[in-house]
Amino acid sequence: MTALVQAALRVRRTARSAWGLAAAFLLAAFLLAGFFVPGSRELGWLHLSWVVAWIALFGHRTHNAYRQGADPRSAFELGVLLLVGVQALVQFRGGIGSDLYPLTFVAVALVASFAVGLAGIGVVVFALALGLATAFFGEQISDPLLLGVNALFIVCFGALSHLFTRAEIVRVRRKSDLELAAQKEKVKDDTRLFRLVAPSSDRVRDEERLYETSVQEVRQALYHALQLLHRTLDLHTCVLLMPSDEAEQLCIAELVTNSDDVADGPFALGAGAVGAAVRRKVTASLQQIRPGYGGICYYRGPASVRSFIAVPVLERGHLRAVLCADRVIDRAFGPEEEELLRDSTSHILRAFENERVFVQLESAKREQETLYRVSQALSTALTQDVVMELGLTAAKEIAPHDFAAITEYQPEGRRHVVRRAAGERALDFQGLRFRDNASLTAMVVKNRHYLPYRGEFDSKQQVLFTKKAKLKAMESLLVLPLVACEEPIGTLIVAAKASGAFGTSVRETLQALANQLAVAMANARSVRLLEELATTDGLTGCLNKRALLDHMEQKLMAAQRFGRKLSLIVTDLDHFKAVNDTYGHAAGDRVLKELGEVLRRVKRETDIVARFGGEEFCVLCEETDLRGAQLLAERVREELEKTEVLTELGPLKVTASLGVATFPDHASTAADLFVQGDKALYEAKHRGRNQVCTV
Ligand code: GH3
Ligand code: MG
Ligand code: MG
Repeated sequence: MTALVQAALRVRRTARSAWGLAAAFLLAAFLLAGFFVPGSRELGWLHLSWVVAWIALFGHRTHNAYRQGADPRSAFELGVLLLVGVQALVQFRGGIGSDLYPLTFVAVALVASFAVGLAGIGVVVFALALGLATAFFGEQISDPLLLGVNALFIVCFGALSHLFTRAEIVRVRRKSDLELAAQKEKVKDDTRLFRLVAPSSDRVRDEERLYETSVQEVRQALYHALQLLHRTLDLHTCVLLMPSDEAEQLCIAELVTNSDDVADGPFALGAGAVGAAVRRKVTASLQQIRPGYGGICYYRGPASVRSFIAVPVLERGHLRAVLCADRVIDRAFGPEEEELLRDSTSHILRAFENERVFVQLESAKREQETLYRVSQALSTALTQDVVMELGLTAAKEIAPHDFAAITEYQPEGRRHVVRRAAGERALDFQGLRFRDNASLTAMVVKNRHYLPYRGEFDSKQQVLFTKKAKLKAMESLLVLPLVACEEPIGTLIVAAKASGAFGTSVRETLQALANQLAVAMANARSVRLLEELATTDGLTGCLNKRALLDHMEQKLMAAQRFGRKLSLIVTDLDHFKAVNDTYGHAAGDRVLKELGEVLRRVKRETDIVARFGGEEFCVLCEETDLRGAQLLAERVREELEKTEVLTELGPLKVTASLGVATFPDHASTAADLFVQGDKALYEAKHRGRNQVCTV
């Protein structure tokens, strides 16, 4: 039903937009009949109606296109209408030979330029068809040469105009893209110029917005300072020039001037007055400057000023900028004015310093916030997987990178393992295990100190993990030690393709993260060990009674829900008291261990083996009926019978009796299943031991 409605709507939409085109074609049909050809018939009401219809249609469709926004369809429609109108006018003036005929080509060029894509090609084809058809049918011209030349002109005008317009659009678009990129680049340059990025934190981060606002702040402070000087000292130009990164050049940082001749820069230092102030770092002033003097670098031509002064802006002895002022009136800069300018330089320096501190504080604040958030999350993370996940996410926030990993050091085997890797080619490294070699990772664990020294990485010279597993195309690297309770437990690694990605402040924050990570990893490891201790039996390594009862509850519920069988095998060693008495308790313990081994060896993946107490063991077999459990019990009995335990009194062989009970055949609760298993075991003992019995 909805499909039908949709189809109907589509037909209505198409009909609405197609009627204009149909009307245009109808008007064109008149032309084919030579409707406007002079002398063919009397001009009358019919012709007037045609013209009125054309004007009405053209007006309506143009208004419609204007209201709804031009799309290719309406561009084609308007193009067709315009061509029909022009063709009518041309026909009226005498057709192909008339003085208005070139108007046809102009019309083609015009419509081809505003119709986009297929519509553009469409209007040219229509113009061609209309031109030929009106000439052939309307004006009865059949000279192939004339028709051919006519067609060629129409196509050429249309195609060229279409192509030129497209090319122009592409050019304008590209130009505006370039301008946008240049603007962005300018903000970056300003950031560098004002040294907002302090030398110690030279990493590129997504803090562009912060930098942009800082640039604005500095600009405003500078502009106000210069404007004040300009007014109070009656200056012609007051300009602050800063050396660019590339050294021997000066850029305009801020400018207040009455002159139209100040160039955009950058300026070469040169031998003039500015150059002298920059090189010698002392105030340089000129007075009674002769007209035509060319030593002031920021003027395009010879300067028209009479006095000039350049004051270097020094920060801890380093030249940061040079403040220049000049006047057109012939009045030298006096000592008080010089003093005022020098005072202003400290104001300028403070503007830089304030913003730099602000930017650093902002980034430090963000890093601290991340650290605080992560440390809270880490304190509640109980598994190593969660800890590592949190750690790597936080490292990404603190220092954007392309690769990160956490390695663990296993002192027992003196081996390192890449426990978690993220980023580029992470899978190549995940789980990688390597010896305590000369790699950066091993050295960091050994020395408990981060590497490489400056955070720079050369994959040809340095080895991160092993010589085979190479980390390629990274310029920056930081391997930080994870130390918990004075013990090195592994490393946190970050690497980036950009060079100089990990500056001092980032490294310190990452180290703080690494310290928290190390403690959280150690805690998670302790939790795991405690859990193991609480659920396993120390002598045999099998699960203990409590863990078995937990499993039993879960498995029984699952068996109940899905209507499956669950079998229990209860095992008890035969005459074990005698073994202890004859061979000693230690030998007895070895026998127990051996039985644990046999049970674990024989059981299937999903079975659970537990030491229930003393020399009694249980095997819980999921989805196993009585028959299957009996077979398993028989295999255990046979295996144990074959097993020899070496003692001081010679080899010892033991046997066991086994009882099997199955849920729901023999019992409906866990407690009952144990009772039935015990009953079956008693039966086996009763029947002479070393055998398997059921209830
Ligand atoms: P039966 O064939 O009827 O089972 O005879 P049994 O001698 O094995 O009798 P029972 O099962 O009652 O014996 C339990 C003995 O297991 C008592 C104790 O000496 C021994 N035993 C229990 N726990 C341990 C243990 O942790 N180590 C050692 N070496 N012996 C244990
Ligand atoms: Mg016993
Ligand atoms: Mg026994």
